[in-house]
Amino acid sequence: MGLPYVRLHVVASGVAESPRLEAKRMDEIAAVARALNFLADLIEARGEYYYEEQNVKRWILDGGGKSGNCETCEDNADRDWIPDEDTFEDVEGGDIDGPPAHPNCECELEYKEKRVRVYV
Ligand SMILES: [Zn+2]
Repeated sequence: MGLPYVRLHVVASGVAESPRLEAKRMDEIAAVARALNFLADLIEARGEYYYEEQNVKRWILDGGGKSGNCETCEDNADRDWIPDEDTFEDVEGGDIDGPPAHPNCECELEYKEKRVRVYV
């Protein structure tokens, strides 16, 4: 998804009433063309990416009970924000949706929306 390539070429032709008037008109046309090309550059630059809201989640460590948190909890908490559709991993590399990862695990998930640039 991108914006169409916008570019203006101005071609002036015809016979003017006087060389002085024609020169003045050409200057005016050139000024308009420069302004439009400047806008086209802005539109093209903006077309390189757009913003999208992405749902993300992260693993929040809790006390972990008497025995403390397990490696699974600590590793997943270290990953910080990840896309909502991703899964967490246990120590063997298996997928888990979230806590609890062990007996007495009181970790929680936190969710938010993040604004991300999507490059086209
Ligand atoms: Zn835990």
